[in-house]
Amino acid sequence: MNAEIIAVGSEMLTAGRVDTNSLYLTGELNNLGVEVVAKCVIGDDRDRLADAIRQAASRSAIVILSGGLGPTEDDVTREAVAQAMDRKLVFHPEIAAALEERFARIHRKMSEVNKRQAFVMEGAEVLPNDRGTAPGQWLGGAGVVVLLPGPPHELKAMFEQQCLPRLARMVPPLAIRTVFLRIVGMPESDLDQLIAPVYKKYTNPATTILAANGDLQVHLRARCATAAEADALLAEVAGPIESLLGDRLYSRNGEPLEVVVGGLLREKHATVSVAESCTGGLLGGRFTATPGSSDYFLGGFITYSNAMKQELLGVSPAILAEFGAVSQQTAEAMAAGARQRTGSTYALAVTGIAGPDGGTEKKPVGTVYVAIADAGGTVTAHRRFLGDRQRIRIFTTQMALDVLRRRLLRPS
Ligand code: ATP
Repeated sequence: MNAEIIAVGSEMLTAGRVDTNSLYLTGELNNLGVEVVAKCVIGDDRDRLADAIRQAASRSAIVILSGGLGPTEDDVTREAVAQAMDRKLVFHPEIAAALEERFARIHRKMSEVNKRQAFVMEGAEVLPNDRGTAPGQWLGGAGVVVLLPGPPHELKAMFEQQCLPRLARMVPPLAIRTVFLRIVGMPESDLDQLIAPVYKKYTNPATTILAANGDLQVHLRARCATAAEADALLAEVAGPIESLLGDRLYSRNGEPLEVVVGGLLREKHATVSVAESCTGGLLGGRFTATPGSSDYFLGGFITYSNAMKQELLGVSPAILAEFGAVSQQTAEAMAAGARQRTGSTYALAVTGIAGPDGGTEKKPVGTVYVAIADAGGTVTAHRRFLGDRQRIRIFTTQMALDVLRRRLLRPS
């Protein structure tokens, strides 16, 4: 079953206000198994709004409007829906009386304009508003048109109390199950090319790919009559996708990379320390953002200058002079120094050029070395990231965590 949402209010067509009601409504409708196929914001213009309602009602079973139910001339939702659905607006004295009483409770006299809120479309049910003055309306029939107040706390309460039970009776029961895969170490376009041949065969489950900060996510969402059917469908699609991803897949339940790496360290009773140059503490920050990370994270060194690399980590001046601060040799010496000084099982070191200045032809901005030291010695990975300073620094932490993850997956 499809739904459309219309947010009413000229203020949401300015740069300063955002329509958040539709996000809430979309989440709730999706949970019921209703798909939101379109949404829009319309200013306080009756004719334009009536056009939008007519169009939405002609193609979707459920149309939900939010806002524009106030008492003033620019609150046009009631009139616009009545116009679009060809219904008369009828005055309900009991609503006017309830409004009057509400005002009397706070020792105020109701203005004449508030009576506009007592007009209800012929055939519509009144949805009481216990948090504000504007009652909502539910116009049933072949399709449903629902009018809800704009203030989010009023809308949420009314939707939850009045609309959810009515919608649940209309919509066939549906189980929604999801799988949330996380992937590292490949660009979004490569990921899509790799897995599209599998997921393109299915419209259910729906597949979404998201990318942020060097992290890729694949969301699979199955909607079936029963949870068992949805799980079976998910397994049918997720299984082949997981095989294609191989060791680039790091999480099947949406856990972030630092949590997965922390779990692997804990399993092995291993510890880690970090030596950071271009990331300036971001890597240590990611480790320690996870509760319980003191089980495996010993500490770190932020060695931005050559002097600190020498003093705190024992990197030899000869290495720095010969190969430079951003080099495989310096990264290895930093990792070895951190491991030796902390006694950790693993030490991760990062050094790179985050930019925007400091790049050379041989080592352009975005050049990054990650070294990992353990009892068997030290190995380095080398990458070049594109983008601005912040992007390069975050991608570097992602790369460093992945280097450690891959090391932890290898038999020691
Ligand atoms: P009331 O008479 O209680 O004000 P109303 O239905 O007339 O109800 P509006 O005047 O349209 O509501 O909106 C009141 C306030 O609610 C707006 O100023 C805004 O802060 C908030 N609001 C309205 N629509 C939305 C929306 N779609 N998303 C988030 N906030 C909204």
